[in-house]
Amino acid sequence: MDKRIVFLGGGTGGTLGANRLRRLWPVEDVEIVVVDRNDDHVYQPGLLFVPFGLAHTEEIVRPRHHQLHQGIEFRQVPVERVDIATDTVHLEDGTALGYDVLVVASGSILVEEETEGLTGPGWMEKVFTFYDIAGAAALHDALDAFDGGRMVVNVVDMPIKCPVAPLEFCFLADWYFQQRGIRDKVELTYVTPLDGAFTKPVASKRLAGLMEEKGVALVTEFNTGQVDGSGGRLVAYDGRQVDFDLAVVVPLHGGASYVARSPGLGDELGFVPVDEHTLQSVSSPNIFAIGDAAGVPTSKAGSVTHFEGEVLVENVRRFLADEPLDASYDGHANCFIETGFGKALLIDFNYDTEPLPGHYPTSVGLPLLKESRLNHLGKLMFQTLYWHSLLPGRDLPGVGSAMPARGKQTESAR
Ligand SMILES: Cc1cc2nc3c(=O)[nH]c(=O)nc-3n(C[C@H](O)[C@H](O)[C@H](O)COP(=O)(O)OP(=O)(O)OC[C@H]3O[C@@H](n4cnc5c(N)ncnc54)[C@H](O)[C@@H]3O)c2cc1C
Repeated sequence: MDKRIVFLGGGTGGTLGANRLRRLWPVEDVEIVVVDRNDDHVYQPGLLFVPFGLAHTEEIVRPRHHQLHQGIEFRQVPVERVDIATDTVHLEDGTALGYDVLVVASGSILVEEETEGLTGPGWMEKVFTFYDIAGAAALHDALDAFDGGRMVVNVVDMPIKCPVAPLEFCFLADWYFQQRGIRDKVELTYVTPLDGAFTKPVASKRLAGLMEEKGVALVTEFNTGQVDGSGGRLVAYDGRQVDFDLAVVVPLHGGASYVARSPGLGDELGFVPVDEHTLQSVSSPNIFAIGDAAGVPTSKAGSVTHFEGEVLVENVRRFLADEPLDASYDGHANCFIETGFGKALLIDFNYDTEPLPGHYPTSVGLPLLKESRLNHLGKLMFQTLYWHSLLPGRDLPGVGSAMPARGKQTESAR
């Protein structure tokens, strides 16, 4: 065996990256090892649908090791720390794993305990998150039992994975309570630390307009300092308060906990600083990061992880062949935004271009920043593509890593 590539994390990025790399060399030349703390691969976009009974937890979880191609070794054990000086990963079972190339693909974790009171009285009774399996399932029961009152959806702070998911939750909640005939008894409020509904001006305006149409109140620049579950209120650092009967909270996110125990690997939030175009670590040339773990200025999203994957795989190949790296990752991200009643929006953007109206991927594709049934079908279909094309490392027809400019309406064209 000549070389060993180790992936830390076997979620979206670790799986698609390892599967794509496995095709490049015979097993006897390059060993590929994927380490993950558990064997449950969750299709995370499906978590949005669980609280509303539109998906069931068992439908969105599959065994992690089944998603990896033959010739990839799967180690089910938590990572304890990485010693970048000796190119060694220390695992919690006491074993050590040397590497020639390390790919950090351990995503982002929820750090609920960082927010005062969040996991205190009322947690999983009237304060929930849908960002993990247990929370999404418990919220389903709570919504079922909710007959009216004040419901808040709160993002504690950025960055979070899929920054549009809490907005989608609000839109689906509007649909859900209408279906149940109790919409007039529910006061829906979205509470965000941002200064608008979303980060970028054109999308933020469009999404704020949709919230207004759907009767969702918007509270901005609210930095949650405390969640008082028993009193039923969110308290901001500046003293403002928002009262609730049911709170759906997206907790603070951080990088995997071992990053903090690995000097030189990550930043203060536990994400790995990398060159934003090559995905190579700024501290060690033989370390790369993909997906939520990478400290790059774009969204933490599965689409980003997918688009990064093509560049990452090429760069691991080039690094091992001693060739100059490909600096082509442009920050490309796209997301379907479910708006309820069988419709969805689509946004597509990169480091330089904000989400704009138009069509994707060319001038005759899916409508951008506009509600349509086609986008909703795209969102539903994506789960099949995820398991059968994206994770196995197949190219999706017409969907490339770089953001397509064709089809987008610039300001002058609008
Ligand atoms: C509710 C919700 C809705 C979403 N909707 C969308 C959407 O519509 N579109 C979209 O593009 N994205 C969406 N996302 C985001 C998307 O799921 C993630 O961005 C994507 O999965 C990131 O991939 P990743 O490989 O970086 O991390 P993950 O897929 O999360 O994988 C990280 C892996 O690292 C492992 N790990 C962590 N710590 C350790 C450790 N110490 N030792 C060993 N292993 C460890 C974890 O077990 C995990 O398997 C959504 C996410 C959520 C929560």
